[in-house]
Amino acid sequence: MLPFTGNPLDRRADKRADIPFLAEAFAKARVLPLWRLNVLVTGAPVLKAAYITPETVQALSVPGAPLVFLGLDEETPYFALDVSKSDDAPEVLAQYGEFRELRAASLVLRRRDLAVLSQAKAMIDWHARHGFCPRCGAKTEIADAGSKRVCPLCAAEHFPRTDPAVIMLATCGERCLLARNVNWTADFYSCLAGFLEPGESIEEAAARELYEEAGVVADSVRYFASQPWPFPGALMIGCYAECSSEVLKLDPSEIADAVWMTREEARALLDGKIEGRRGPMKTAIAWHLIDGWVRG
Ligand SMILES: [Zn+2]
Repeated sequence: MLPFTGNPLDRRADKRADIPFLAEAFAKARVLPLWRLNVLVTGAPVLKAAYITPETVQALSVPGAPLVFLGLDEETPYFALDVSKSDDAPEVLAQYGEFRELRAASLVLRRRDLAVLSQAKAMIDWHARHGFCPRCGAKTEIADAGSKRVCPLCAAEHFPRTDPAVIMLATCGERCLLARNVNWTADFYSCLAGFLEPGESIEEAAARELYEEAGVVADSVRYFASQPWPFPGALMIGCYAECSSEVLKLDPSEIADAVWMTREEARALLDGKIEGRRGPMKTAIAWHLIDGWVRG
């Protein structure tokens, strides 16, 4: 199972408009606070999600802040709360944990907590970016325990977005293609990736991105696995793309460098054993795509 998946919460969509249930649930809830999109964590060396109680929420004084019912872990309700408006939230909550950026923390976070915090971050981030109705421009309001936003002017309902992106390991026989995006650090090599465009299948998007960015033609595209990637709200769809030619034609506006690597070289990249080059972090699907291919 990939990191960021395996969320243990039962989302209970049927309860999102049940006001008495939600009131009772919140009274005994574990509330996961997010401050400027950073998550509250505690523990060492393995990090766990830190939660606060409804009483602590009162002390923060963030009236009207987005509050999202995430679901139930057995009988325990979990909520996410955006505490960004409280300038001193890190100090007020210091006894519970510290706020950390989720991507960096993911390497040492307990797996099930990573999945829950991923859900929490994606939801709070979505609320933060969807304050206005895309249909009429009016201010939207949070509804149904944070599971949607509604427009009071035109009555449109808006639901959390997940943006599908393809991430491909191109292979040509016994070599695979690893590339460095122009926006990445000078030593970082990974799989090529890009967002799906409207009217496109996963296979078509994978082939298009490979051709646009590296000039390689995919003869076949095979699905590997998918991974929620809450930065801010993507779903990474991992694929293998088999190519019959290693000839490259890089798009210099996107790709700074690309190299075909043998299984041994790709293994060494993942293991941090190539001087001056490093591969994707172990919590990213790119790492697992490469690892899967190296293992055959
Ligand atoms: Zn509207």
